[in-house]
Amino acid sequence: MIPLSFDYLRPSTVDEAVQALADAGEDAKLLAGGQSLVPVLRLRLAAPSVLVDLGGIAELRGVREDGDALVLGAMTTHHQVLHDQLVRRYAPLLAQATATVADRQTRYRGTVGGSLSHADPAGDLPSVALALDATMDVVSREGTRRIPAADFFVDYLTTAMVPGEILVAIRIPKRDGWGTHYEKFNRVAQAWALVGVAAMVRRDNGSIAEARVALTNMGPTPIRAHAVEQALAGAPASPGSVASAAEQAPEGTRPSADVFASAEYRTHLATVLTRRAVVAAGAIHAA
Ligand SMILES: Cc1cc2nc3c(=O)[nH]c(=O)nc-3n(C[C@H](O)[C@H](O)[C@H](O)COP(=O)(O)OP(=O)(O)OC[C@H]3O[C@@H](n4cnc5c(N)ncnc54)[C@H](O)[C@@H]3O)c2cc1C
Repeated sequence: MIPLSFDYLRPSTVDEAVQALADAGEDAKLLAGGQSLVPVLRLRLAAPSVLVDLGGIAELRGVREDGDALVLGAMTTHHQVLHDQLVRRYAPLLAQATATVADRQTRYRGTVGGSLSHADPAGDLPSVALALDATMDVVSREGTRRIPAADFFVDYLTTAMVPGEILVAIRIPKRDGWGTHYEKFNRVAQAWALVGVAAMVRRDNGSIAEARVALTNMGPTPIRAHAVEQALAGAPASPGSVASAAEQAPEGTRPSADVFASAEYRTHLATVLTRRAVVAAGAIHAA
């Protein structure tokens, strides 16, 4: 199907984009890589009167260090994230998850900011942002606000951003000494996650000092597996204790059912994948 007609604007600075969005009002949409938005337009599930394309704004691309944080411009593509040395060093979990996103073509066009703004519960990056304790820098005519990932994803395809706001950057605390792993279960290669688990583990000799675990597609938003984290903190770094902690993964989840998986199956997957993700993140082996 062909989208309904719209006006197309391509600003070259964030200030111009903010102004264009404000002038266009609530009927405007931002265009990033178009990998989620264009299908929505073609299906006429959305019919904005104005599209503001962020693709011409150079300041929104790239990864840099800012003190204790890694800062990713919202328009940094999945492909760039995947091959960025700073990401590999300070936030390897993001690279691990990005490697599982879609196919090469989609990764060339799709952006980290677009993925987080779209807030698809089956998207891989929202749970990673949660596990990494990322914050989102959001700009509008009213100024800038910094939203923690824990407050950013508020419901199905819904973030805390309001009309007129643009996600400009994602800030990730730099971490050393953590092992990380993203475990994704999909029906076929390159498909969306039935369930995914983002895990981070900091070991202290034979035990787990600290763990951070977040779940993909176990509810309308990404979910921190707090019960699992509490069970892992201070536990022996053994497969048995990880398996027992992973039993808590379904706590607080609200998995959906669809043609691909029942809610019960997703609940089972959450336990199994959490065990696998934590074992891999912590490089935990049987004694
Ligand atoms: C075949 C296919 C398979 C895919 N598989 C996966 C997968 O396995 N895992 C996964 O995680 N994703 C997957 N995706 C989605 C992909 O990751 C997209 O990159 C992502 O969903 C949207 O990013 P985008 O840059 O294309 O954003 P767009 O499609 O341009 O925008 C998406 C939405 O976000 C809004 N938006 C975009 N940027 C901003 C911004 N800076 N500030 C505020 N709002 C903004 C737009 O207005 C729009 O509503 C897949 C996509 C395709 C086409």
